[in-house]
Amino acid sequence: MHAIRQMDMHGGIKIALRFRERFWDETASFFSLVDPAPVWWTAAPGAPYLMGFFTGPRAANIAADNDPVATCLDLLSAVFGEQVREQLVGWRMINWSVDPWSLGAYSSVSVGAHGLRPALAAHHGRVHFAGEATALDGHAASVHGAITSGWRAVAEIEAAHE
Ligand SMILES: Cc1cc2nc3c(=O)[nH]c(=O)nc-3n(C[C@H](O)[C@H](O)[C@H](O)COP(=O)(O)OP(=O)(O)OC[C@H]3O[C@@H](n4cnc5c(N)ncnc54)[C@H](O)[C@@H]3O)c2cc1C
Repeated sequence: MHAIRQMDMHGGIKIALRFRERFWDETASFFSLVDPAPVWWTAAPGAPYLMGFFTGPRAANIAADNDPVATCLDLLSAVFGEQVREQLVGWRMINWSVDPWSLGAYSSVSVGAHGLRPALAAHHGRVHFAGEATALDGHAASVHGAITSGWRAVAEIEAAHE
């Protein structure tokens, strides 16, 4: 319980913007911009979508923003010009912190929580734990960490039954 309380679960938010047409370089797969949204992916070739990715404190800031789309358009118009606002035809925001089955995006080691992952990963009697937060191989907060933690838990269960 100490480890659970000490570890953080960082938020993650994606904002997808749909435009009338692509006004960016057809070959670009993502744009690296500045705060408040440094990461922007483009969609499949030809599709007029941009997807902004906000994590950690940036996710908290955009979640508290009264008009997150206006904030995104302010940032993008500084790069692509005012056409960005006229081109917008739709948007969607996905916030993993308010998804009841996720309650966040990534486990994160806050100040004072260093070295606590092994406690999260430790089995409790016959109950074994997997999931990215319990990955002990340096791949926490990722799909590969989730997978390797599953392999570890299975190995523990097999060893317990030998
Ligand atoms: C927006 C976003 C982008 C990401 N991008 C990447 C990336 O590019 N590369 C990468 O490697 N990782 C990425 N990650 C991280 C990666 O998705 C996670 O680390 C990984 O999915 C965690 O897997 P998990 O099995 O530990 O947990 P989860 O995938 O969260 O699985 C937990 C499961 O438990 C279920 N559950 C929860 N509570 C209960 C309950 N009470 N009863 C029954 N079931 C319950 C949930 O519905 C869920 O299916 C991203 C995460 C987010 C949110």
